[in-house]
Amino acid sequence: MAKRDYYEVLGVSKNATEEEIKKAYRKIAMANHPDTHPDDKAAEERFKEASEAYEILSDKTKRQNYDQFGFAGVEGGAGNYSNVYRDFSDIFSGFGGFGDIFDSFFGGGGRTRSSSGASVVRGASLQYSVTVSFKDAIFGTKVDVSYSHDEACPACSGSGGSGQKTCPTCHGSGQVARGNGFFQMASTCPTCHGRGQVIDNPCASCHGTGLTKKSEKLSVSIPCGTDDGTKLVLRGKGNAGPNGGPAGDLIIFVRVKEDKYFVREGRNVFLQVPISFTQAALGCEIEVPVVEGGKVRVSIPAGIQSGKSLRLKNRGVPAFKGNPDDRGDMYLTVLVETPKHLGLKARSLMKELQQALGEDKSPDPIPFER
Ligand SMILES: [Zn+2]
Ligand SMILES: [Zn+2]
Repeated sequence: MAKRDYYEVLGVSKNATEEEIKKAYRKIAMANHPDTHPDDKAAEERFKEASEAYEILSDKTKRQNYDQFGFAGVEGGAGNYSNVYRDFSDIFSGFGGFGDIFDSFFGGGGRTRSSSGASVVRGASLQYSVTVSFKDAIFGTKVDVSYSHDEACPACSGSGGSGQKTCPTCHGSGQVARGNGFFQMASTCPTCHGRGQVIDNPCASCHGTGLTKKSEKLSVSIPCGTDDGTKLVLRGKGNAGPNGGPAGDLIIFVRVKEDKYFVREGRNVFLQVPISFTQAALGCEIEVPVVEGGKVRVSIPAGIQSGKSLRLKNRGVPAFKGNPDDRGDMYLTVLVETPKHLGLKARSLMKELQQALGEDKSPDPIPFER
């Protein structure tokens, strides 16, 4: 059979972008992946063909050679679809949750067979959100996390009972294909619930699932320098897999509360304070709060302009999991306030000052900064 043009295989135009190529490949690969079509030769061929096309077209140099010389330009470099297969999770990650779908779809890419022939799948990862204070996120803390997860049933050691045989519905794969062919999704086999095996004498404790719920309480360390949206992965703390499959992860999603006064940007923190007109003109010492708590004295130089920032070294945020004493900086912005309610004496002094400074005149415009 003559080889089909790579662009034709992926159904994209000759000047398709990298993203379009990736998208097109993902669609075909998901619909034809060998894991979900164990004995479907045609699907396997489609998968291989698309994988080979993707391998060439996703590589700038190979694509150039192919565009210029056709199949001759890429001979020897193509056909090794296992390379692409290995990088699968990468292709699907970073696509707004596609990675997750892919993970549950193919059991994290780690579907193997146990010695009994049952399908072994990694257990699901669980996500748990915690909210920590602004200060705790900077300096680190511990939080208690209570959750429940699947573990191997202690009564049957996860086997589910005795008298196992291959599931007649899914023929041991644990999954059945559903969908319209274009975007086919595998779903868990309803007969064996994904185990690939059915049991004559199911365990009374777990009703043959091999799994029981376990409540767990963990003390989780939130490292210093943690930022809003950080995901901490606790390996193997998620659900146990069926048939003795490895456990998934527990993913701690950290939210950081906003502070009333401080704003954080990476390793630096920002604070604004008002100072008076005379403090700005004469210079002063003021006390300002710092993120670790308490206050520090800061010298404001005479003649400082409103909006000017002063840097307080090492009063910011440590690197994530870094040395807590090696911190970013704090930027203190001073905003000069114009006095609003002048008493009689203050008003006459201010008039005098105005004359002394010769300020009773129309200003020149300031050049616009571009
Ligand atoms: Zn089944
Ligand atoms: Zn059991």
